[in-house]
Amino acid sequence: MNSIEKLTEYFRKFPGIGERQAGRFVSYILHAPESYARELSQTILAIKNTVIECAECHRFFEKNHSAICQYCTKAEDTTHLLIIEKDSDLENIHHARVYTGKYFVLGGLIPILEKKSSYFIRIDQLLKTVEERSLSEKKLTEVIFSFSLTPQGLHTENRLKDTLSLLQKKYGFTLTSLGRGVSTGADIEYLDPDTLKNALESRR
Ligand SMILES: [Zn+2]
Repeated sequence: MNSIEKLTEYFRKFPGIGERQAGRFVSYILHAPESYARELSQTILAIKNTVIECAECHRFFEKNHSAICQYCTKAEDTTHLLIIEKDSDLENIHHARVYTGKYFVLGGLIPILEKKSSYFIRIDQLLKTVEERSLSEKKLTEVIFSFSLTPQGLHTENRLKDTLSLLQKKYGFTLTSLGRGVSTGADIEYLDPDTLKNALESRR
């Protein structure tokens, strides 16, 4: 494999990127000044050293002195846990200022056709988090699913309801979903603050 093919292979591993797009990225780098390629590779290396995964909500954040991100340390309400698919969904909800509880980033959705749960999804961590929060002094009262309105989002929600049902019986918290006032296919990442507020208020 020559170096063009090798770099193309690396880009092809990115989510949603096919052979042709990967080839365009390689071509862009070949035409760019050498300084661009150097800074790109240094930035990629640096991000692995400066960014860590929050021990509580699992979003990635710029490392400081704590293993827990500021969204988690500043959460006023510890009785609610909002489950989202990805970091960008969490950012959108956080910046809309419509929710003051704790978050949990699942890291993906459960594929509809796949039977084994061997994808990048934090199911074990979710069970652990729900159990810990249920046993904490300010006990967990509600778990809110906040996934995009797609077949895969709904599938994930149903599967997680099954997964959490034993803990739900044991600790008595409720499981709710965002109100369906938002249109089908809507991505949480792009919803405006008013729509998010309505969806949270009309959860059921
Ligand atoms: Zn966090």
